[in-house]
Amino acid sequence: MFVADHITKIIDNINSAMKKRTTIQKNRLDPVKLVAVTKNHTVPVIQEAIAAGILAIGENRIQEALLKSQTLDAKVEWQLIGHLQTNKARVAVSLFDLIQSVDSQRLAREIDQAAGKIGKRQDVLIQINVANEETKFGIAPTEMMALAQYISTLENVRLCGLMTVAPFYEDPELARPIFREMYQLFRKLKDAQLEHTNIEWLSMGMTHDYTVAVEEGANLVRIGTGIFGQREY
Ligand SMILES: *Cc1c(COP(=O)(O)O)cnc(C)c1O
Repeated sequence: MFVADHITKIIDNINSAMKKRTTIQKNRLDPVKLVAVTKNHTVPVIQEAIAAGILAIGENRIQEALLKSQTLDAKVEWQLIGHLQTNKARVAVSLFDLIQSVDSQRLAREIDQAAGKIGKRQDVLIQINVANEETKFGIAPTEMMALAQYISTLENVRLCGLMTVAPFYEDPELARPIFREMYQLFRKLKDAQLEHTNIEWLSMGMTHDYTVAVEEGANLVRIGTGIFGQREY
């Protein structure tokens, strides 16, 4: 039962956070999507989360996601939130409904080719490394428009928004400026109205900082620990 209780509580917190949005982000009427991050968690607990209403699963590693998707016969959406190597694009495209971690033209091109081969249009997000942390994947905010323009020329890839992993601060309030900057970038991308794009997702916020992220305009949060408890590695 505890997974279901955690999910209920998180949804309550998301709803409260949406009410605290500033006037600029208030006009985001779309609901926030809760993606359950299931890395290092077993299929039975994932099934509990799905039974409790979770519609989308986030995984970091392709191999792990593949195994789980073969075991789970539930109808859920699979999203890749971890780094993708270009040589794994084909497998990723065969499994994931959304690839959140596109961070180079080369990767976008590989995804395009792989998707073309199976007649799919692959939804992707661009991953941004806002704080320019060496340990994190993603491109600099200043490179966002160029990559978005490039992706919009690819026939088998559809750009759907932006994703970021904020730096970890003890006090999640300190991440607020980063989430705010991401929302500005998201607006800029949306307002550019690039052809063949469908800019709808701003993916930011994890267990320790999702309420701040939602207050600043996130509409997709990725939560693992908050739903399933600590991961054992
Ligand atoms: C693991 C992970 C999450 C979830 O982190 P929690 O702190 O467990 O909620 C979200 N996003 C990415 C990219 C991750 O790797």
